[in-house]
Amino acid sequence: ASAPVDLRNWIRDIPDFPKPGIQFKDITPLLGHAEAFRTSIDLLEAEFRHKGIEVIAAAEARGFIFGAPLAMKMNAGFVPIRKPGKLPYATIAQEYALEYGNDRLEVHSDALAPGRRVLLIDDVLATGGTMCACRDLVRSTGADLVACAFVIELSFLGGRSKLEPCEIFSLVTY
Ligand code: 5GP
Repeated sequence: ASAPVDLRNWIRDIPDFPKPGIQFKDITPLLGHAEAFRTSIDLLEAEFRHKGIEVIAAAEARGFIFGAPLAMKMNAGFVPIRKPGKLPYATIAQEYALEYGNDRLEVHSDALAPGRRVLLIDDVLATGGTMCACRDLVRSTGADLVACAFVIELSFLGGRSKLEPCEIFSLVTY
């Protein structure tokens, strides 16, 4: 058997992206490497396989990349959380603060229901603003948010403390 893939080897630092002073974690090397990508999905599935997950929900765009294959592997449904105006049916919305101004995320009003066991996933936990908005959307439907999972957690940005007491799981922490 070959050695397990170390996902860190497939995550690249990009200095000054998208703005000066920000060090961006680029996951495209991981996505482009079949074994690394598969390993990320396998490890997420292993963590949550016995937790009765019925639905994976994720925000565009990078959350979709991990959420859809994870849903397939877990025999769960997939619910997209989107930027304003993208979803065709009735939606519920959640505002959240950005560094400058506000943004908004939406989910279809019938996509989740009380008691549905939901796992939220995204590529990166940074300040936590995006995932807090997703969490609030899921909760407002009455669904049961089991955990928030990430490929990468940037622990120095403190997103975890914003999300707690929600269960949080990350594959790679910096
Ligand atoms: P937060 O809302 O936690 O500050 O930022 C997380 C969101 O922004 C995630 O949806 C993620 O895709 C994106 N993001 C923030 N920082 C990074 C980064 O360094 N790398 C990647 N790939 N995405 C990031």
